[in-house]
Amino acid sequence: MKRSQPKWSPPSGEGKSVLRLYNSLTRQKEEFVPQSGHTITWYNCGPTVYDASHMGHARSYISFDILRRVLMDYFHYDIFYCMNITDIDDKIIVRARQNYLMDQYIQSNPSPDQIKKDVTSSLELLKAKIAKESDPDKLNMLTKMQQKVMALVDSGDAGQNVNTVRLVEIRDIMAPWLDKQKGATVTDNAIFSELPRYWEEEFHKDMVALNVLSADVLTRVSEYVPEIVEYIKKIINNGYGYESNGSVYFDTKAFDSAPNHFYAKMVPEAYGDKKALAEGEGELSVSDEAGEKRSATDFALWKASKPGEPSWESPWGKGRPGWHIECSVMASDIFGESMDIHSGGFDLKFPHHDNELAQAEAYYENDHWVRYFVHSGHLTIDGCKMSKSLKNFITIKEALKKYTSRQMRLLYLLHSWKDTLDFSEKTMDVALEYERTLNEFFLNVKDSVRNVAATGVSAFSKWTEEEVKLNERFQGKRKAIHEALCDNVDTRSSMEHIRELVSAGNSYMATARSSQRQVNRKLLMTIAEYITDMLKIFGAIPTEQSIGFPQGGAQNTNVEETVMPFLSAFASFRDNIRSLARETKQKDILSECDKVRDEVLPNLGVRLEDHEGSATVIKLVDKEELLKERAEKLKLEEKKRLEKEKKKAEQAEKDAQKEAQRRIPPSEMFKSETDKYSKFDEKGIPTHDASGVEIPKSAMKKLQKLYAAQEKKYEDFLKSQKS
Ligand SMILES: [Zn+2]
Repeated sequence: MKRSQPKWSPPSGEGKSVLRLYNSLTRQKEEFVPQSGHTITWYNCGPTVYDASHMGHARSYISFDILRRVLMDYFHYDIFYCMNITDIDDKIIVRARQNYLMDQYIQSNPSPDQIKKDVTSSLELLKAKIAKESDPDKLNMLTKMQQKVMALVDSGDAGQNVNTVRLVEIRDIMAPWLDKQKGATVTDNAIFSELPRYWEEEFHKDMVALNVLSADVLTRVSEYVPEIVEYIKKIINNGYGYESNGSVYFDTKAFDSAPNHFYAKMVPEAYGDKKALAEGEGELSVSDEAGEKRSATDFALWKASKPGEPSWESPWGKGRPGWHIECSVMASDIFGESMDIHSGGFDLKFPHHDNELAQAEAYYENDHWVRYFVHSGHLTIDGCKMSKSLKNFITIKEALKKYTSRQMRLLYLLHSWKDTLDFSEKTMDVALEYERTLNEFFLNVKDSVRNVAATGVSAFSKWTEEEVKLNERFQGKRKAIHEALCDNVDTRSSMEHIRELVSAGNSYMATARSSQRQVNRKLLMTIAEYITDMLKIFGAIPTEQSIGFPQGGAQNTNVEETVMPFLSAFASFRDNIRSLARETKQKDILSECDKVRDEVLPNLGVRLEDHEGSATVIKLVDKEELLKERAEKLKLEEKKRLEKEKKKAEQAEKDAQKEAQRRIPPSEMFKSETDKYSKFDEKGIPTHDASGVEIPKSAMKKLQKLYAAQEKKYEDFLKSQKS
C-alpha cells in the first residue's frame, strides 16, 4: 500500500538561455549579473552641447535606447539610468567666444575696405594653420576652405558689405582670426552658458522626436563643479594626482604601478597614444612642451583658465574641470563606488572611458567601478565615414525630414547595435520595406478576424491542421527570439524571426481565404499582439505613459472599434449596388462606386480593396499614406494615358504618310528624284542614272515593279474619290 506521496523532482530545465552582453572590458560576451538583485544602475555618456546633433550621435542614443528598453521591458530589470550633459568644454568655449566676437564685428559695421583687409589677414592665419596640419582629412578641408575664400576675394565678393561676412566660408576663417585677436577680452561667464543651454534644448527635442526615453536623472557639469573639486582633492590625497602651474593632472605612472590598479584597462594597446590623448585634452589645453605634466600620458583633471575662458574657484586657483573627470564624479555621486552598466559611443573608449575608470578607481581604491562597459558601433553615410571634409554630416532634424523616427529605428533594429551601421537610401529602403510588410500584415489580420466572434462559444472552434501548423511556427519563433535577445540583445535576428512569423501568418490567412474558411481569431490575434508587443518593447510603437486609473470608465476610445460597424455596413451596401449596376450595365453608378473608394474614403483614412467574388476588404490606414498611394496611382494612370496618346499620334502620322503616298500618280513618282536619274521614258520610268549611264536591266525590273505597285495604290485612291 502506498501511504505517502511519491517523491517529486523538478525538470532539469535544460537549454535555458541567460542574458549575455558584449563587455568591452573583456572583449567578449559575458553572462549578465547585476550587482544587486534585479536592479541595474546605468550611466551613459551624453552629448557635448555646442552644435546640432547629427546621425553619428543618433547611432549611440537610439542603440542604447533599444538596449535599455529590452532590458527593462523584456527582461524586466528595474533600471536606474543616468546621463550627463557636457556643458563646460573647450569646443563650447571656442564656439561661444567666436560667435560672440563675430556678432560684435558685424555690429561694428566695418567698411568694405576694412573687411577686405581683415579677410586677407584671416587668410594668413589659415595658411599658418595649414602648414602645421598633419591629418589629411582636416588638411583637405582647410585647403578647400582657403581656395573658396581666395576666389571670393579675387571676385570682389568678399568685401562688398558686412553681410558677406556671414557667408559660411568667410565666417569659418574669420572667426578664429578674431578669436586670436580678441578672445582674451571675453570674460562674461554668461556668454559661455548661453550656447550650451540652447543646444541642450535642441538635443532634447531631437530625442523626443526619435522616441528615445529620457534619463531618470540628468547631470550637467556646470552644476557639479564643487563636487568635482572635492573628488580631485581625494585623488591627490590618494597619491594619483598632482598640481602643476594651477592645473591638476592625473598621475598615470603612479596609478599604473599601484598593485591594485591598471591604467587603460579597456584599451591597453592605446596607452601612450599621443593623438588620442591630445584630442581628449581639448584644443585649449597647454601643450606638452610647457612641461607641466610629469609624464606625456598624464591627463588634466583640472585646467587653469586663461583670460577668455570661463572659470570657477578652486584650491589651485581659477580654473575649470578637465573633460573626463565630470563622468567619474557625477556617476559616483548618483551610484556610489560601482555601477552595473556604462555605455557610450565606440570612439569614447580611449582615452575618455579608460580615464573615467582610472579616476574613479583612484578615488575609491577599487577595481570594479564599472561591471559591464558597452559601446555602440560606428555609423557610416553611404559607406563613408562621416567627416567634415566630406561634408556628409546629416543632422537628426534633416534625417527626420526624409524618414519617420519609426523607419529610422527599424533600420537600427535590423542591425547589430555593436557593429558598423550604414545610413543610406539603400539601407533605409530595406527598413521601409520591412515597415510595409508589417503594416499589411496587421491590416490583413484586422480584416480577417473582423467577422469572427471574440468571445463566447463560437469564438473557439476546433483546430485544424492549419492552426496546429501555424501555432508550432509561432512557438518556435517566440523561443528563437528569446534566445536572440539573450544573445547580446540581437535585434537583427529577432527582426528576421518576426518577418518569418509574419509570412507564416500571411499564408495561413491566404489559405483560409481561398478555401473560404474562417480564420482562428484567437490564434491570429495572439500572434499579432505578440509582434506588436515586441515592437513596443523595441520602441518602434509608442506606448502611452499615464499615471493612475483609466479615466472615463468603460468608454470606448478605440477608433477602429467605433467606426468599423458603420464602414462594414457601407461596404456591403456598396457591394450590392455594384453587382446590381453590373447586371443592368449602369456605368455611371459603377464609376460613382469607384469614386467613393478612390477619392472620398482615402481622405478619411479608409482603404477599400475590391476582390472579385468576395466581400470588400476594409482597412483603416494613415490618411497621409493613402493620399500618397492615390497620388502614385494617378501618376501611373497619367503615364499610361500619355503613352497611349503618343502611340495614337504615331499611328496617325503613319496613316497620313501612307495617304500622301497613294495620292502620287505613278508617272510622277520618280521624276523628282533628279539626284538619282537623268532620263525617263514616256510613262515616267527612269532609263538613265544621274551620270547619264543607262540603267541595267535587273535594276529596271525593280523600278517597273515599284511603278506597278504605285499604279495599283493610285487606282485605289481614284476609286475612293469617285465613290
Ligand atoms: Zn563620459
